Amino acid sequence: MRLTIDSDKCQGHNRCYALAPELFDVDDYGSALVIGDGTVPPELVAKARLAIANCPEFAIAEAGD
Ligand code: SF4
Repeated sequence: MRLTIDSDKCQGHNRCYALAPELFDVDDYGSALVIGDGTVPPELVAKARLAIANCPEFAIAEAGD
C-alpha cells in the first residue's frame, strides 16, 4: 500500500498527522505530506485507512501501483 496526498485538495487540518504521525508530516505552510514515498508498512495499514477515511477534503488516496 502506498499513499498520496493531493496538495490542491489538502486544507491543512492535520487530522491525518494527528491520527498517524508515522505516515504523515506537515510542511512549513501547514499542508500535509506523506513521509518518504508514502509506502505503508503492513502494521500501519489500518492507521492509513483510518486517515483516508477521516480526511475531510478526501485529499488522501491509495496509489494504484
Ligand atoms: S486530513 Fe486531509 S486535508 Fe487535513 S491535512 Fe491531512 S490530507 Fe490535508
